[in-house]
Amino acid sequence: MSYADFHKRSVEQREDFWAEQAKLIEWNKPFDQVCDYSKAPFVRWFPGGETNLCHNAVDRHLKDRADQNALVWVSTEVDKEQIYSFRELHAEVQRMAAVLQSLGVKKGDRVLLYMPMIPEAVFAMLAAVRLGAIHSVVFGGFASHSLASRIDDAAPTVVVSADAGSRGGKVIAYKPLLDEALRLANHKPAKVLLVDRGLAPMERTEGRDVDFAAVREQFTGTEVPCEWVDATHPSYTLYTSGTTGKPKGVQRDTGGYTVALAASLKHIFQGDPGETFLCTSDIGWVVGHSYIVYGPLIGGMATVLYEGLPTTPDAGVWWSLVEKYKATVMFSAPTAIRVLKKHDPALLKKYDLSTLKALFLAGEPLDEPTARWISEGLGCPIIDNYWQTETGWPILSIANGVEKQPSKFGSPGVPTYGYDVKLIDQQSGEELKGADQKGVVVVEGPLPPGCLQTVWGDDDRFVKTYWQKVPALDGKPEHWLYSTFDWGIRDKDGYYFILGRTDDVINVAGHRLGTREIEESICSHAAVAEVAVVGVADQLKGQVAMAFAVLRDATALGDEARMKQLEAEILKTVDAQLGAVARPARVRFVSVLPKTRSGKLLRRAIQAVCEQRDPGDLTTMEDPAALRQISDLVGAQ
Ligand code: ATP
Ligand code: MG
Repeated sequence: MSYADFHKRSVEQREDFWAEQAKLIEWNKPFDQVCDYSKAPFVRWFPGGETNLCHNAVDRHLKDRADQNALVWVSTEVDKEQIYSFRELHAEVQRMAAVLQSLGVKKGDRVLLYMPMIPEAVFAMLAAVRLGAIHSVVFGGFASHSLASRIDDAAPTVVVSADAGSRGGKVIAYKPLLDEALRLANHKPAKVLLVDRGLAPMERTEGRDVDFAAVREQFTGTEVPCEWVDATHPSYTLYTSGTTGKPKGVQRDTGGYTVALAASLKHIFQGDPGETFLCTSDIGWVVGHSYIVYGPLIGGMATVLYEGLPTTPDAGVWWSLVEKYKATVMFSAPTAIRVLKKHDPALLKKYDLSTLKALFLAGEPLDEPTARWISEGLGCPIIDNYWQTETGWPILSIANGVEKQPSKFGSPGVPTYGYDVKLIDQQSGEELKGADQKGVVVVEGPLPPGCLQTVWGDDDRFVKTYWQKVPALDGKPEHWLYSTFDWGIRDKDGYYFILGRTDDVINVAGHRLGTREIEESICSHAAVAEVAVVGVADQLKGQVAMAFAVLRDATALGDEARMKQLEAEILKTVDAQLGAVARPARVRFVSVLPKTRSGKLLRRAIQAVCEQRDPGDLTTMEDPAALRQISDLVGAQ
């Protein structure tokens, strides 16, 4: 079947299509209905069906692959490696489930995880869903007040944490941050379960804090069966990255998510049972949930959980893992590849990477120079794919498992099966049907299985934030559109290109420009490693573009004459490629750009600083010094 037909079927014969995909997972009881969209824009996938996420990730593999690798933990922070087979993972997860149960966790309760990248974090996620509880993983190392607000939002029965994480050899004590968060939060969890790694001293609160190692001893060989839950039962909540504002708490179901991940492994990632998946994200992000923990395990693959920087002991560490564990599928982010690009390319040739079928990249636009660099270095296909915390799996991708399709540099591909993707005009709301028109990327409801059910505890916010009702017109019945808040363009072959966030569109004297277009152009200058472009209010033109660039050669930063010359050259490049209208008012040079902890450029914060406004919620920001550099530059203007 051609991919076009496959996609058409997925949206036009939605029920048949997804009923077939649902066979990829195991059900305790078959579902009554495939898709209930009677309360649009809310959708319920596979209602009446009973299943369990942990069963599909772990238990179901015992009959065929009990002794194969399931979880491979590698830490270059504490210099340890540990491998768990499916049988061992099953035992550990049951022990963790028994511990959680002993602390009072029941079906529907929330379990909040504030954990470093250690096996116990994966055990706790799987154990929670095994019991029908709902996990909420908060990125390890978040500051106390962001953690406190998430504790209040989730109202967990138990918090699972550890003494410390480690980053680049520096120990980050978690317990004091957690204690402060628990003091700030209104909700008080009954118990705090602590994994002591022996990295940092911990103070214990009598009656509340429990040592995992000690209770674990009581449950040697304990069996805790999976709690069968309705397909629509929530499995977890997770926050968006907070790039455009206050993070939103996404609520995911059980059955739809399990089916979506199983299908994505087959059609998009093409990972086969018995192989190894290496995903370099963090369990605190959606990519970590879907493609470190659940996706590979559901697919019967071993998954690598890596604690450490991409550059320690050297920038070849990921490739050494590919070689050692014969990884066939790898998933990372453009921001990480840009980091590697600053290091010796010979490291790519040092290892045997012949097992690798493809490298998938998502999270941010993949610029062409980076794509080419890694593609030449690896010699396997580089597959850009576009999605959101909200969707849990790709909206735009190349589904090579259905039909081999060429990919195009700069494009995350075509609409993934199940997603009825459209472009609409931001002002009129009308659908843009032609090629090469710019518009907002939207998905016509219902969203496919695996996507968010609602915003946790706030159905109203879910509808108001994401959805727009389109009245019946010209024979098309009333329908709902989900906004991605991204701005894109589709070429004549149906490939999409993401131009930036809708907030990031710059309006210069009536011309609408995506920040991405200008950034791509600036990046094509050989001296530039990375750049952020924002629109800044201007009395004359409405808005002007401002660029902040990081140079490949950091020593040029202090050299005024060199910077002046580079600025002039870059402006000329933009003029030549996009025209004078896109030319930034200034190109300033910095040593580092402000990003979220998941590596996304915080353009709205840069913009606010440039306009001397309050930058808003910065709880997910990585390095405050980066924003200070910009405010110093702008202030000195
Ligand atoms: P928030 O919603 O809190 O502002 P966020 O949107 O950054 O944060 P995520 O869900 O982690 O939170 O990121 C999804 C966004 O990342 C997408 O909406 C898009 O802007 C960007 N993105 C993801 N993948 C790609 C890609 N392949 N190409 C371009 N942009 C991408
Ligand atoms: Mg978002």
